[in-house]
Amino acid sequence: MTHPTGRHFLQIPGPSPVPDRVLRAMDMPVIDHRSAGFAELARNVLEGCQKIFQTQAPVVIFPSSGTGAWEAAIVNTLSPGDKVLMVETGHFATLWRNMAARWGIEVDFLAGDWRRGADPAAIEAKLAQDASRAIKAVMVVHNETSTGSISRVGEIRAAIDRVGHPALLMVDTISSLGSADYRHDEWKVDVSVSCSQKGFMLPPGLGLNAVSEKARAASKTNKMPRSYWDWEEMLKPNAKGFFPYTPATNLLYGLREAIKMLLEEGLENVFARHQRLAAAARAAVSHWGLEVLCQEPKDFSPVLTAVLMPPGHDADQFRKVVLDNFNMSLGSGLSKVAGKVFRIGHLGECNELTLLGALTGVEMGLSVAGVPHRKGGVDAAMEFLEQRTQGNASPHLKVVGHL
Ligand code: PLP
Repeated sequence: MTHPTGRHFLQIPGPSPVPDRVLRAMDMPVIDHRSAGFAELARNVLEGCQKIFQTQAPVVIFPSSGTGAWEAAIVNTLSPGDKVLMVETGHFATLWRNMAARWGIEVDFLAGDWRRGADPAAIEAKLAQDASRAIKAVMVVHNETSTGSISRVGEIRAAIDRVGHPALLMVDTISSLGSADYRHDEWKVDVSVSCSQKGFMLPPGLGLNAVSEKARAASKTNKMPRSYWDWEEMLKPNAKGFFPYTPATNLLYGLREAIKMLLEEGLENVFARHQRLAAAARAAVSHWGLEVLCQEPKDFSPVLTAVLMPPGHDADQFRKVVLDNFNMSLGSGLSKVAGKVFRIGHLGECNELTLLGALTGVEMGLSVAGVPHRKGGVDAAMEFLEQRTQGNASPHLKVVGHL
């Protein structure tokens, strides 16, 4: 494509497209972050974030990427030499493991095949063996963005409780929050880690931690050096609507608007929309005769679908064909699955027609790239979505029929 026209289709699983409403909300003069006006904005977003995490606990917002918020979770709760249990769900779980190791944490990493979420029974078995209660934290990635598998955090909490183990539960909600059902309080999560550029539909630049009382208590006695990431340094000025250093003011305007949008739609509806779109994407993949990377239906991600390329076909070459011809970015395969999978993001600012546009681009790309497939995947997705939306649409159709 010499001159890409129309709007670029950003169908990677984050950063996700930023809605016009959010862009407009951020298009503001920079304000004094020590003013009363700023304090009102900050209090508004801090309270709003609690609603999205489904918690009464304080939420901390760092000017950072998600990786920074990972680090904050570690340095505020753990001490060098501590033992933790993590699960190899994919690339991001592996990166978080590597980070913990660099901080001197001893990680028991439950091996995984990157094709399913964390197994609550395996976590339960490990904790049951830990008679001396040496494991200080269980750390899992809720939605593994590299594979399109989601872990059942509620079941993991139940497994921990069954053993009566006192470990902290720390969860990476970076690509799930605001898209997939997530309940910080109900699931008694101690630290939920998130960021701005996925379900919040913002540009990158904010890292978040929701912090339970138990995690905050751990932060009072743990031995890890920290300064920038220190929760207490942040929570003290936050109580009055201020930050200990210059916050990302204009991103916070965007965050206020994004939270408003999520609450206007209603979290239940947001979660149902993501489930519906994901199921439609899988209907297309299955019709094409291709394979979804996630093999466990209970763990299918509502946020993205990772698709395995047939042997002998390179996923990155295919993504290039789609980008060059149809102005659409698909997610690449990361580390172990590089070149083997492509990922379709269907999160945030995404609806039925956005998804169908994306699937159309994939189907045309498969033809152009000469990847063997059965035509008609988009029709399969359309059929699925028509069935799912009939009930809602019928009153409107009646009116149109009458006219
Ligand atoms: N964890 C998950 C599940 C992710 O998807 C990502 C990024 O995509 C990260 C962590 C790292 O976040 P960031 O790139 O914002 O540092």
